[in-house]
Amino acid sequence: MSYDSENIFAKILRGEILSHKVYEDEYTLAFMDIMPQATGHTLVIPKEPARTLFDLSDTACTHLIRAVQRVGVAVKLAMKADGIVVMQLNGIAAGQTVDHVHFHVVPGSVHDFGKHSAEENQAGDLALLADKIIQCMS
Ligand code: 5GP
Repeated sequence: MSYDSENIFAKILRGEILSHKVYEDEYTLAFMDIMPQATGHTLVIPKEPARTLFDLSDTACTHLIRAVQRVGVAVKLAMKADGIVVMQLNGIAAGQTVDHVHFHVVPGSVHDFGKHSAEENQAGDLALLADKIIQCMS
C-alpha cells in the first residue's frame, strides 16, 4: 500500500489542520493527541512520509526515536508521571488508524488505559497541556 498524502497527520504537517505543538525540528513534529488515552497523551511523528515504522529511512528513524525520548522526558516532568508508556502501532491489524507512522507518549500505566477519550479534548485544554510540556522541554 502506498503512502496517502491526504491522511490527517500529513495535513497537520502541512499546517492544514490545527494541532497543539509541543516540539518540532527538521525531522520530527510532536503534538497533543486530540482523543487522549490519558492527560498529556502526546504524538511524535516524522516529517518523512511513511505509513509504518518499517517504511521509514534510517535517518528519519534515528531522529524520530531521539524526539520520542526528548518528548517523553518532558511529558513525564510536566505531568508528574511515575511511568510513561511509549506505544507504536503498525497496520490496521495492529490497531493503527492513521496511516502516517507515529509514536504515542502516554503518561500513566498501560493497565489504566487502552481506550481513547470518548470525546475530543477541548482546544483550550490541549493548548494548556502543550504549554506545560514545552516548559519542561530541555
Ligand atoms: P493510532 O490508532 O493510529 O495508533 O493512533 C492515532 C492517534 O491519532 C489516536 O490516538 C487519535 O486520537 C489521534 N488523532 C486522530 N486524529 C487526530 C487529529 O486530527 N488531531 C490529533 N491531534 N490527533 C488525532
